[in-house]
Amino acid sequence: MVFFSSPAGQYVVQVLAHSMLMALVVEALVKIWEVTRPGTRLQFRLLYLLVPLMGWPLYQLLWPDRGSAEFRQTLALIDMQQFLPLHLGGLPIWAWVSVVMGLGTLLFAGRALIPTLHNLISADGEEASPAPELVNKLNRSAQKLGNLPVSNARIVTGPWPGAYLSGLNRSRLTVSAPLVELLDEEELEAVLAHESAHAFHRDNPRGWSLLLLGSVMFYNPVALVALQRISQDVEMACDDDAVVWTGRPLALASALLKTADVSIGTGLESTAPTPVAWLSRLDARVRRNMVVERVSRLSHYGTPQDVPLKRLRLALTALLSGALLFFVV
Ligand SMILES: [Zn+2]
Repeated sequence: MVFFSSPAGQYVVQVLAHSMLMALVVEALVKIWEVTRPGTRLQFRLLYLLVPLMGWPLYQLLWPDRGSAEFRQTLALIDMQQFLPLHLGGLPIWAWVSVVMGLGTLLFAGRALIPTLHNLISADGEEASPAPELVNKLNRSAQKLGNLPVSNARIVTGPWPGAYLSGLNRSRLTVSAPLVELLDEEELEAVLAHESAHAFHRDNPRGWSLLLLGSVMFYNPVALVALQRISQDVEMACDDDAVVWTGRPLALASALLKTADVSIGTGLESTAPTPVAWLSRLDARVRRNMVVERVSRLSHYGTPQDVPLKRLRLALTALLSGALLFFVV
């Protein structure tokens, strides 16, 4: 409890409360306003990372006495410090908050930090000298996409069917030989188009900035949910571009199903009851659900429409909820 009444503790509790409230408001608005275009939905979801993080220093600047007892008694709508000593299920609420923070830290390390670092340091597959028919197949699919940045695609060896952007600025497309073997030409074209969309939107540097934002709130499970949802929106936005370029949503859906069948849940999973096995089972389940969601969307594909007055809605959501959260201390 001593920690939670210190300035750092008060800050942490406020960030937790603010991001939970923000997530509820944003998800409700996304539903009510029927924000179905993934590129727009992710901008709304960014608000539950940004408003809690940027709000606090701004509030302190505007009103340095905001944390004082007088502010809490007279102006605050919700004073979190009053709730912390209360009991819930035999434990004080501050103990529950500590449990949530511990779980958040564990999940952040297991679901965001370790997989990203693992991807970063794991060696690229060896450049294969692939069978000429694989090279021809890849080239035929790439040529159909015209000028998209997939012309310099290369094939590497590797146990799993996969495609990713590599190279220093992550703009070179790398595909594994098993992927080229597994997919037919239309499916391969769809995957190349999806990866081209990532290169086109510069999703790699954007992903790093997001991870950095999330790392500042490593203890906050809501930040992890935001990262997860935003990365799913990013995938769906690239699916949309791939459909525009190829005109074939079903080819992409079938490529996703084929590759997910082969590669998900066969890696780190083990039956030993360790945190690593537990996290990797959770990871496999989350990834499977994400694929299912994308496949079902592509199977009933309708071009998503953007909401009218998008910028105004975003600005109003940020401003009004930011103003309301000023009174949650
Ligand atoms: Zn992708």
